[in-house]
Amino acid sequence: MSLSTSRCALYLCPKQHDFTINDLPQFVTQLQHIGLIAAPVAGQDSGFFTGERFLDYIAYMGCSPAIQFEASAAGENFCQVIIHHYDAAKLIVSQKQARDPHCPNCNKPVKDWLSYKTEESISCRSCNTTANIADFDWRKMAGYARVFIEITDIFPKEAMPQQILLDKLTGICKTDWLYFYSCQ
Ligand SMILES: [Zn+2]
Repeated sequence: MSLSTSRCALYLCPKQHDFTINDLPQFVTQLQHIGLIAAPVAGQDSGFFTGERFLDYIAYMGCSPAIQFEASAAGENFCQVIIHHYDAAKLIVSQKQARDPHCPNCNKPVKDWLSYKTEESISCRSCNTTANIADFDWRKMAGYARVFIEITDIFPKEAMPQQILLDKLTGICKTDWLYFYSCQ
């Protein structure tokens, strides 16, 4: 059993915060076609096993990562891909190693940003700019979108998506994608 109780994941999401997937089953088929995901995890409607090209798309930094790709009888954590889909943009922000968002206008960090946040925007006290949550630089520790692809059990900087994956997602969705980490 791990000493750490922290659960971390790598997330991919569209840069355009209001972008949505209109045909989710087709999107799943496309992700299976490029080999990012395989079959659904039994008993889940949004979780998938990693596909046969997963390690071409996600580069692990360690020399020999101990990645568990299959569910074991003991029900331990294993690496799976979960597709999240929301009616309105949602902010997923790391609870651990959290960073203050940086203002798109003056680039200064906004301390206590929760106090200056509305449903869709954040106000920067340094330069009095109010901008959409997605326009702030979250230093890869948060994302604001309607669609997320979560890859579970990845610690920050432990693994990174390759450009080829971001390009494939852009090709499928006709919109640019970015990535971030979240630890809960
Ligand atoms: Zn500012």
